Amino acid sequence: MYSVLFDIDGTLVDTGGAGRNAFAAAFAELFDIAEISRDVRFAGRSDRAIALELMEVHGVEPSAEHWRQFVESYLGHLETTLPLCQGRILPGVVGLLDQLQTIEHALPGLLTGNVRAGAARKLTQYGLADRFKFGGFGDIWNDRNAIAKEAAEQARFHARGVLNGTMVIGDTVCDVTCARSIGAFAVAVATGGSTREELLAAGPDLLLDDLSDTETLLAEVGI
Ligand SMILES: [Mg+2]
Repeated sequence: MYSVLFDIDGTLVDTGGAGRNAFAAAFAELFDIAEISRDVRFAGRSDRAIALELMEVHGVEPSAEHWRQFVESYLGHLETTLPLCQGRILPGVVGLLDQLQTIEHALPGLLTGNVRAGAARKLTQYGLADRFKFGGFGDIWNDRNAIAKEAAEQARFHARGVLNGTMVIGDTVCDVTCARSIGAFAVAVATGGSTREELLAAGPDLLLDDLSDTETLLAEVGI
């Protein structure tokens, strides 16, 4: 089997800011923070790492209880922000997922900083939820490499121990770095916040403008 692990934001979908807006709404509701700091970076990071850093920046104790309250509030606000922000599935994504479905030995999974329920909610919004059977998520880990390890373990489990290769597809330098950390083939796609130059500097195995032209990618999977 060959696992193909997808990042969500900037790779599969552009939520039009729904994620950040739901973060902001949760911080306003729970901690009375009128505006979340622009200095805290979102792209390529786990929800947990972002939320805990925002708490620290805004003088909120980054406790387990605050994290629990945040997740509950954030998921509630996603219900509103996702339909409001009118995001979209990124170019080539549906075609690529369709092709992977025809490859018997391909195992599409997720490798995302989103909390599991947030990932499911976002993918449901765009009709992609049933495309992935497993993944690594941002509920527990701050570090994306730890999420990659979780996704790789899940891939091995779903491949029943017969895993011949892994690919990670993502839109940030962090995606390339975490692909390296699990020895995966790293595909960088410039549909998110990073430029081609930034992605190139991270040294991916393959750099794409979007997922429309996936000949090289599919050749790697074995077509
Ligand atoms: Mg991303």
